[in-house]
Amino acid sequence: MKILQKTPEKISFVEDFGESLANAIRRSALEIPILAVDEVEFHKNDSVLYDEVLALRIGLVPLETPKTFTLREKCTCKGKDCSKCSVQLKLQAKGPCTVYAKDLKGKVKPVYPDIPLVVLREGQELELIAKARLGKGIGHTKFSPGLVYYRNVAEIEISKGCKACQKCVEACPQKVLKLEKGKVEVIDKYKCDLCEACVEVCKKQNKGSEGFIEVKPGKEIVFFIESWGQIKAENILSGAVKALKENLKAVK
Ligand SMILES: [Zn+2]
Repeated sequence: MKILQKTPEKISFVEDFGESLANAIRRSALEIPILAVDEVEFHKNDSVLYDEVLALRIGLVPLETPKTFTLREKCTCKGKDCSKCSVQLKLQAKGPCTVYAKDLKGKVKPVYPDIPLVVLREGQELELIAKARLGKGIGHTKFSPGLVYYRNVAEIEISKGCKACQKCVEACPQKVLKLEKGKVEVIDKYKCDLCEACVEVCKKQNKGSEGFIEVKPGKEIVFFIESWGQIKAENILSGAVKALKENLKAVK
């Protein structure tokens, strides 16, 4: 495995495990349990947003997901919402003000405290209790841990007829190409997203010919994971693999 980037939020790497396995891992990321608000009890809502709309917005706020939590259906409390499988967040605000994600007070914190939820005008009040639980992205997108995607590594070939006009170098939005010693060279094929802007511009420049640059998808795969912040990107990868293994147990 060749790692291209690794930060707590983002991981990208190159592998040749094939598209079907890459896709299985991508889909399995939606089976990692993630914390999100699942129930909102409104005591006061004078804001311009309906209860349902505001509840949806609150549901989409990414929450830091502690490892100690269990899924409600697997919890020993049998669906009674104990402290192991659910957490309460309280929100109380009085206008004029903007209500932010950080105004949700409780044992877990929003990943991005400055997400605006609603604007309250003079005298308007908002009071609610939100209940967060673990869930899976396959059930609702608010439980998804991040963005997982992949693409084939590009195979870029520059043929002999190339006159090094540099049009392709300028056209590439990802800066994959470079002019070196009078020749067009590929500097980073992993950045190429197969947009073929270079191919088009080369064809235009050399009217009547097929152009001198060819881009096609190769065998290797670049895999990307971008976390929404509830859990680290590396835990999305390990969590997805674990979920896939669990599902495969069924056919043993
Ligand atoms: Zn419980």
